Formats: sequence, C-alpha cells, structure tokens
Amino acid sequence: MKPQWLWLYVCLAGLVLVQCTPTEPLPIPTAAPETAPPTAPTEDPYLARRQAMVKYQIEGRGVSDPAVLAAMVAVPRHEFVLPEYLDQAYADHPLPIGYGQTISQPYIVALMTELLDLQPGEKVLEIGTGSGYQAAILAQITDQVYTIEIIPELATRARKTFDRLGYTTITTKQADGYWGWEEFAPFDAIIVTAAPDHVPQPLVNQLADRGRMVIPIGPPGGYQSLWVLERQGEEILRTNWGGVRFVPLTRSE
Ligand code: SAH
Repeated sequence: MKPQWLWLYVCLAGLVLVQCTPTEPLPIPTAAPETAPPTAPTEDPYLARRQAMVKYQIEGRGVSDPAVLAAMVAVPRHEFVLPEYLDQAYADHPLPIGYGQTISQPYIVALMTELLDLQPGEKVLEIGTGSGYQAAILAQITDQVYTIEIIPELATRARKTFDRLGYTTITTKQADGYWGWEEFAPFDAIIVTAAPDHVPQPLVNQLADRGRMVIPIGPPGGYQSLWVLERQGEEILRTNWGGVRFVPLTRSE
C-alpha cells in the first residue's frame, strides 16, 4: 500500500471514531423504583401472563376486590403446578396435581377468596391444601393461614413449596379436615376446596362470630353449589353462589 493511501485510511478511521464516540456520558442506571412490590421478582418471565390472567379471566368476570387482584398478580402460580403443566400454569382451567386431585381454575380461586372477605390480621383455615396455591393467595392478605390436607404426599409437597418460596406464615397439617383445627379455633374465615355432601358441623362450630365460610356442597363427582355461610351469634346466614365442580371431600377411615 502506498503511504498516501495509508494516510487516507487513518483519516477515515479517525472520522468514524469521532462520529461514534458519545459526546455525553451514558446515564448511570438508578435503583428500581420504590413503588415495585417487594414480592415481585425483577425478572419474572411469567409476570405478563399472570397480569393477563387477572385482567381477562378474573377482573373480566367481575372479581373486583383490590386485595384479591393484587394477591393473584403476586403469587407465582407456575411454582405450584407440576412441571409437565408449566406451559398451562396461567390457563383458564384446573390442572392435575397428582393423586387424582387438581389445582383449581384461577377464577374460582379468586372468586372464593373474594367471597371470604378476608381482612389483614384475620385467622383463616383452609381445608384441602392440594398444591398450596390457594393458601399462598390467602397468605398475601393475612399472616394467619392454617391449611389441612388429607393426602400425605400432597401435604409434604405443599409444605416444601411454601418453604422454598418463603411462605413462612402458613401453618400446615396432614389430617382429615372434616374435624377442622380445634387448637387454633375460632377462625374468622374458613375455605373448603373439596366438596362434602353436607356442611361439616365441626367447621361451623369453629367459625368465629361474624366469621365466613366458603364451601362447595353437593354430590361427589357431580356439580355442587358454592355456599357462603356467615355466623351471626347463634344464627348462620347462607347464600348460594351457584354451580361449581370440585373433587370430593374424602374421609379418613
Ligand atoms: N386448594 C387446593 C385445591 C386442591 S383440590 C389448591 O389450591 O391447589 C382439593 C384438595 O382437598 C385435594 O388435595 C384433596 O386431597 C384434599 N382433601 C380432600 N378431602 C380432604 C379432607 N377430608 N381433609 C383435608 N383435605 C382433603
């Protein structure tokens, strides 16, 4: 190469360099905005799906309690489903969790939670831990959550999920939930996520005054009615919220 060509190359390279060098310093990244909820992971690839689930499946069907909607956005439902159903974690239907049981449809979880009218600091009992998803939703609203599961393998798995995700305020036990949990009664709210064919009297007895119970009642294998019971002194008020489908409440021998 002739020296004059080399000179031209050097000049051109210099020109490009000048053009490409930023004249202003790059902005320094600042800390995440303080409004970000502490439970929301910074990089959650499922967040958009979860927000869409809440908007279309839940708000779209009339659930409006802000605490319930916030809980449904906050809890990572995909952590509660079996690995083979990961891609359906936010779909509009229940999913198998093994042992013939299911994690409920997101809308049903939201509806039952709204009907429970749970307030921060209240004590709530769940019958039918299953995957643990419903209990995690409750734990977003109050720090006193008790949940009972009859199938030992599911009870153990749910406990491990709670520990892994840091749900330290959920107290678990493996037992027949028909009998409630006398030790911690009375409860301000009781939610039953498996269907008996009648209201278990021990659960009614463990309901605090002004306490609410949300429970599907009906024949096993068919459709049931979703009932809200509210204790007012010695009286129990009952409201029927229509047809639902749940796995049966089974009994220990
Ligand atoms: N709330 C659960 C739904 C689980 S399906 C979730 O969010 O995933 C209902 C669960 O109730 C099943 O796991 C079933 O094993 C359990 N179950 C049925 N009969 C029960 C009983 N008598 N006591 C406690 N749990 C019971």
